[in-house]
Amino acid sequence: MKQAGLKPHLGIFFIAAVLFPSIILSVIAIRSLSREEAFIEKRMHDTLLAEVTHVSSVVAAELNTIEKELNSNTAHLNRDNPEDFLKAWEKQNNLVEVPFLVSGTGEIIYPSYETNPSAAEKTFLDWNRQFFRGEVKIPVYENIAVAYKDEIVKDDNRNYYSDKSERRKSPEVNYSLSQESANIVGEQYQSQQAINSWEQNLPIRQKIYDQAKQTGKSIVMRQVQIEGKSEKDAVLPQKESMFVSEPLSFNQILSKSNSGIIPRSINENLKLIFWRKTEGGRVVGCVINQAALKDRIVGLLPQIYSSARIITVLDENGKPLILPKGVGSRNWQRPFVAKEISSILPHWEAVAYLANPGMVKIEAGAVTFIMWALIMILFISISTGGFLVLKSLRSEMALARQKTTFVANVSHELKTPLTSIKMFAEMLKERRVADEAKKEKYLDLMVSETDRLARLINNVLDFSRMEQGRKQYVLKKENIIVLCRELIEGQRLRLENNGFVVNFITDSNEVMAEIDAEAIKQALINLLSNAEKYSDGGKSIDLEITHDASRVYIQVKDKGKGVPAADVQKIFKEFYRCDDSLTARVKGTGLGLTIASRIARDHSGDIVYKAREGGGSVFTLILPVKAGS
Ligand code: ADP
Repeated sequence: MKQAGLKPHLGIFFIAAVLFPSIILSVIAIRSLSREEAFIEKRMHDTLLAEVTHVSSVVAAELNTIEKELNSNTAHLNRDNPEDFLKAWEKQNNLVEVPFLVSGTGEIIYPSYETNPSAAEKTFLDWNRQFFRGEVKIPVYENIAVAYKDEIVKDDNRNYYSDKSERRKSPEVNYSLSQESANIVGEQYQSQQAINSWEQNLPIRQKIYDQAKQTGKSIVMRQVQIEGKSEKDAVLPQKESMFVSEPLSFNQILSKSNSGIIPRSINENLKLIFWRKTEGGRVVGCVINQAALKDRIVGLLPQIYSSARIITVLDENGKPLILPKGVGSRNWQRPFVAKEISSILPHWEAVAYLANPGMVKIEAGAVTFIMWALIMILFISISTGGFLVLKSLRSEMALARQKTTFVANVSHELKTPLTSIKMFAEMLKERRVADEAKKEKYLDLMVSETDRLARLINNVLDFSRMEQGRKQYVLKKENIIVLCRELIEGQRLRLENNGFVVNFITDSNEVMAEIDAEAIKQALINLLSNAEKYSDGGKSIDLEITHDASRVYIQVKDKGKGVPAADVQKIFKEFYRCDDSLTARVKGTGLGLTIASRIARDHSGDIVYKAREGGGSVFTLILPVKAGS
C-alpha cells in the first residue's frame, strides 16, 4: 500500500523538475532568438547606414571640389575675347558641356542664336533665356537642417534641459573653463549634436517641415522607400526629403553668393549649371556634362559589391549609376538603407541593398523553425514520456493494490471452509450427532466445503502456472454434451439446496471437441460458481449448449444483477473485482474469469459476456468443434 503515496509526489516532481524548467527554457530560447534576430538586423542596418552616409558625404565633397575646380578655371576669363576663352575651356575640361556668358542685365552673350549654335547650345538658350532675364523662377533646393538650424538647436535644448535640467551646471564642464566660455563650448557642442540627431527626432522634424511650408517652401518627396523594418525605420517619415525647395529668380540666387551650382530639371533630367560672378556684373558658367559628372562619382564609390551588400548611387530617375555584374534586376527604389546627398543633387540618393534580401529572413526563419520543431519534439517526448510513466505507475499501483486485496481474500476464502470442515469433523469425532440424516448432511457439507477449497487452490495454482507458462493441457476427444451434463448434475443438488432452479438445455446428444476435460470443467465451474455467487434475487441458472459447424457455444445464464456496463471490459483482467455492493459482500479472488478465459483461449476459443435480457448475465464459453462431429 506504500506505493500509493508515491503517485502524486511523482506527478508534482515531474512537473517541477522536468516540465516547468523545459517550458521556461523554451520561452527564454525563443525570446532570445527573436531578440538576436532584431539585433543582427539593427547591426546590419547601422553598418550599412554608416557606409551610405560616408558615400553621400564623399559625393557631396566631390561636388564642392568640382565647384572649386570650375571656379578656378574661370578665374582668369579673358575680358576682351571671352568667346575663345569659353571654347577653349569647353575643350579642356570634360565637365564643361555648354559654357556661357550672361550680361549684367541677364542677356545671354554667349552662346547666341546668331553664331550657328550647336544642338546643345540651342537647347540651353531655349531653356535658360527667360530664367537669366529674371522672367521665370526655378526651384532652388536647400537643406532643411541648415535652413532651420537655429530652431532645431533651440528645440533640442528645450527638450534636453527639460529632461536633464541640471546639465548646464555640471561641474565637469566648468572644471577648467570660466563659466562663460564653458557655456559657449557646451552650446556649440550641443548645436552640432542637435543637427546630427535631428533627422531621427520626429516631432522636431515635423515642426520644422510645417514651418517651412508656412514660409512658402515646398517639401521635396524622396523617391526611395526604405525596405528595413526596424523600429527606427518605422517611426521616421520615409517620404519627406531633407531638402526643401523655394522658387527663386536668377537675381535672387546671385544675391546669395558669388558662385554656385544650380540644379535644373529639364525634360525629366537633371542638368547642373555652374555659375560665377565676374567683372561688370557679368556671369560666366557652364552646363555640367552629366556623363562626366557620373563618371567622377562612380570613381569615388567604394567596392560596391560584397557578398553581403550592394552600395551604389541612384540618380534623379531612381536608376543606379553603376551596378555589379550579374546582379539581376530588382526594385532599386526599395533599398535597405538610403541617404540623400546634396541640395545640388536633389533626388539623388546613396543607397545600400542586401545582396540577398531574402537570405536574412530565410535564415532567421529557418533557425526559428528548427527551434520550434526542437521545442515541439521536446514537449511531445516529455509529455509522452511523462504520460507513459504515470500510466504505468498507475497500473503498477492498481496491480499492487489488487494483489494485496487478493492475498486478504484468499486467506479469508481458505479460512472459512477450513473452519466449518473442522467444526463438523470435531462434532462427528466426538459423536455428538446422533441423527443419521444430520450426520449425512454434515458429511455432504464437509465434501462441498472441501470442493470449494480444492477449487480455490486449483485456481490459484493454475493461475501461477499460467503466469509462468507452465500450464499443460492433455487434449482428448470429448463429447461436450456429456461433459456438461455430468458437471451440472454434479452441482444440481447443492444448487437446488441453495434455492436455485437449474436447467440443462441442449438439442443435441453429441458435440465432439478436442479438449482438456479437467481444464474445461474448471472453466465451467468458475462460471457456474459466479452465477451462484452473484445472483442476488432471481435464483435460476441455465446451462445451454448450441453449436454450428465449427463452434460449440456453452452458455451459463443467471438472473442476477449482471455486470455493470463500465466493468464489462475489465472483469477478465486478473484480480479484478467489480466495485459494487454485491461483489463486496461475496468473497472472491478476482481470478475465476481470468483463468476461465485463458483456458478458453488456450483451446483456441473464447469467453464472452453479454447482459441477459430481463436482467442477469450470459457468459458464453466458445470452443472449436472437432471436424466431422
Ligand atoms: P471473483 O468472483 O472471485 O470476484 P471473477 O474473476 O470470477 O472473480 O469475477 C470478476 C468479477 O466479475 C466479480 O468480482 C464480479 O463482480 C463480476 N462477475 C463475474 N460473474 C458475474 C455474474 N455472473 N454476475 C454478475 N457479476 C459477475
